[in-house]
Amino acid sequence: MKNKAFLSTDLVQKKLQEAGVQPTLQRIAICKYVLCEGDHPTAEQVTKWAEKNLEKISQATVYNTLNTLVDAGLLRTFKLPHSEKVIYDCNTHDHYHFLDEASGSLYDIEAKDVSVEMKMPHQFKVNSMEIVFKGNFKS
Ligand SMILES: [Zn+2]
Repeated sequence: MKNKAFLSTDLVQKKLQEAGVQPTLQRIAICKYVLCEGDHPTAEQVTKWAEKNLEKISQATVYNTLNTLVDAGLLRTFKLPHSEKVIYDCNTHDHYHFLDEASGSLYDIEAKDVSVEMKMPHQFKVNSMEIVFKGNFKS
């Protein structure tokens, strides 16, 4: 259900290079965490992880790396309606989210699994759409 992929260091390095980003060890580590292990983490969560797992890393480095990854198209930012926090999403394909209200966990819902019928007044040209479903996750 959760979109956790396993990416090897080589593959992460390649992805960074393809995106025109210099693959430093810290960037690779952060990238691996956010793309493989992290689950829609906030910048604070990534910083916490980095401080625990990487040597001498500053918050600025984490934030810069996240921004670089967003600019490179490897990550997408997303904001939940009920929170001011920006969430980093490694799923850059069109998708929506399901929020489990009990745990606060966010699940990806594929766009093809949702059909939205719009009767939008003609003066509104829609470029993108974000949907958050809220409810209970039943395992
Ligand atoms: Zn997502």
